[in-house]
Amino acid sequence: GHPLFRDMTTTIFEKMSMRARELGAINLGQGFPDGPGPHEVLEAAADALLTKSNQYPPMAGLPELRSAIAAHYARHQGLDLIPEEVIVTSGATEALAASLMALVGPGDEVLVLAPLYDAYVPLIERAGGVAKVITLTPPEWRITEDALKAAASERTRLILLNNPTNPTAVVMRDGELALLARFCAARDLIAICDEVWEHVTFDGIGHRPLMAFPGMRERTVKIGSAGKIFSVTGWKVGWMCAAPALAALLGRAHQFLTFTTAPNLQWAVAEGLGKPAEWFAQMRADYQESRDRLAEGLEAAGYVVQPSAATWFLSIDLPASGIDMDDVTFCERIVEEAGVAAIPVSAFYPNGTVTSLVRLCFSKADGVIDAAVDRLARFR
Ligand code: PMP
Ligand code: GLN
Repeated sequence: GHPLFRDMTTTIFEKMSMRARELGAINLGQGFPDGPGPHEVLEAAADALLTKSNQYPPMAGLPELRSAIAAHYARHQGLDLIPEEVIVTSGATEALAASLMALVGPGDEVLVLAPLYDAYVPLIERAGGVAKVITLTPPEWRITEDALKAAASERTRLILLNNPTNPTAVVMRDGELALLARFCAARDLIAICDEVWEHVTFDGIGHRPLMAFPGMRERTVKIGSAGKIFSVTGWKVGWMCAAPALAALLGRAHQFLTFTTAPNLQWAVAEGLGKPAEWFAQMRADYQESRDRLAEGLEAAGYVVQPSAATWFLSIDLPASGIDMDDVTFCERIVEEAGVAAIPVSAFYPNGTVTSLVRLCFSKADGVIDAAVDRLARFR
């Protein structure tokens, strides 16, 4: 095929979801909840569809949503954003694309940490940049100053981070965030921080935005997604927040990517973000229960799983479970023979590297988790 197609293959999430549909397998691969989403938020979207304008909203987003996002981050994360520093996008994916289109020039180097979300490297490369991959390894996935220094050069302009992290389900420690902040400030780097999982943290662990660390307020692009906060992944309402000089550039890129996002969904998200703290705590508690259900079920069946401090995911450790297969082989076998779709963690590494982990999604009804566990127990 054309050389341009080589690095833009079909994403693993779509591939595994297609396999699951073909084979009638339980899909614990691609990350999405199987519930309908919170009724009041859905109702707000339905109401807005019928009672508000369905024409192009303002390019940077409905003013009401931009204000709601700024107020939400003031309340939950102690940030001091003003609405003008918030740009609404069509999902976090568009926010990633817009940030990279806006901020990466030809030959600019962008530091990324693997395992990484699969959109990052193709987007950096299409923006004309060069991805410099720092490889993190289980079980600690620790970021060190030495690794940052070794990957950086005179041409490094940006670092692109995901915290809390998909697929490792870790929340970065304060010490790591402080290190990243010092590193960015010392090298005059911009940080694009993909924080779509900011509300989905467990065991009382809170999220700390990189933007709040010393020296980062003016050099961070903070990305969020309503799909994760409200369990409606199909909505594709996201946003990017940054100081005015950066936000102006981000807006220019956004105007030529999607320009805007469905207005009724923007109204509904604005309303949802105003929910009381208990609402978010309940959402976390519900997913934590699902996490425990899947982890305990798998452990009872003889699988060893990695801890999950955040996201909708946990990973089976194959060698620790006494399974002598790489992750891709295991995923192929369980989708065919057990009827359960999962994601090989090697798909999150540009160069393979870690092939011992298989990611499963637990944002599912109890019965679905139990059925998947039964099938995986019988597969052993
Ligand atoms: N970044 C990460 C780390 C994600 O896990 C996801 C979705 N799973 C996205 C970005 C994309 O978010 P959205 O659906 O809002 O585009
Ligand atoms: N982010 C989701 C996941 O990690 C998938 C999103 C997608 O399919 N692009 O499963």
